[in-house]
Amino acid sequence: MIKSERSMEAIRMKERLEAIRERALAQINETDSLDKLNDIRVAFLGKKGELTEVLKGMKEVAPEDRPKVGQIVNETRQAIEEVLDKAKTELAAKKRELQLKSEVIDVTLPSKRDELGHKHPNTLALEEIQKIFIGMGYEVVDGPEVEYDYYNFEALNIPANHPAKDEQDTFYINDKIVLRTQTSPVQARVMEKGKLPIRMISPGRVYRADEVDATHSPCFHQVEGLVIDKGITFADLKGTLAEFAKELFGPDTKVKFRPHHFPFTEPSAEMDVSCFKCGGKGCRFCKGEGWIEILGCGMVHPHVFELCGIDKEEYTGFAFGVGLERVALLKYEIDDMRLLYENDIRFIKQF
Ligand SMILES: [Zn+2]
Repeated sequence: MIKSERSMEAIRMKERLEAIRERALAQINETDSLDKLNDIRVAFLGKKGELTEVLKGMKEVAPEDRPKVGQIVNETRQAIEEVLDKAKTELAAKKRELQLKSEVIDVTLPSKRDELGHKHPNTLALEEIQKIFIGMGYEVVDGPEVEYDYYNFEALNIPANHPAKDEQDTFYINDKIVLRTQTSPVQARVMEKGKLPIRMISPGRVYRADEVDATHSPCFHQVEGLVIDKGITFADLKGTLAEFAKELFGPDTKVKFRPHHFPFTEPSAEMDVSCFKCGGKGCRFCKGEGWIEILGCGMVHPHVFELCGIDKEEYTGFAFGVGLERVALLKYEIDDMRLLYENDIRFIKQF
């Protein structure tokens, strides 16, 4: 009796195993994802899976039936594993195919372009000015923007009580250091080195405690020039700057010098150019004057030579300074200086 019950147990196990196999295969067939496939593997073949549970009932099976049942367990496991592996391979291939399809590059699409910038009117004006002076044999020299008060003022014959030193005009870092108010200190530094002759321009950023409006900014740019050699006269100054004006504004440009005062030059002058819009007849652009003020200049003051250790009996020279923004505003007919600092690419691209 006991024996026959044990034999029955073997048959029941066989049936259970067949049922497991069928359910497993059905589930695998319905599965469309690798994750679900793995869940099925765990559910049927895992340590706590159904097949393991069946094996726990082996002790109920008659010993002579056990090898047979064991074999069926193995076959079931093998069958499920085979189908699982096959499904896994197929699903992986399918997934890869989908991925390839979704990542296809459409070579007919227009490419994304990097938006290129555009040269600023200041840069364009500076490049042009540099080109003109380099063509005349000038050297371009750079200098510090945070400068000693000495180089910014005193070496240039601007003593402590000079109005230009008024604190309202200048950003002071401390008693001895300022944000340079002009690029002339570069000239003082070059003169001090004593390597003569000198033929240089020094372009760069300068600072003044000015309110922002259509013609003023606390930070702007200058290009200053200096020539020192034996026998330099005012005629050299006039000839050089007349040539500069022609190259910058056109071959018909005339120049006019008006007496002026600068601490570091003597005599000093302001130079006007004939209006390049109306040719000097007078128009809205030159406010009916026919002339446009463009730069300051003069013969280097003998006192500056003394301060910088150059023999004033042997050498003479001239200096000039032009506002870069002034040139850019004139040349590109811009009516408000603030536009130059807003960096609106739509504005900048017009030049
Ligand atoms: Zn005009």
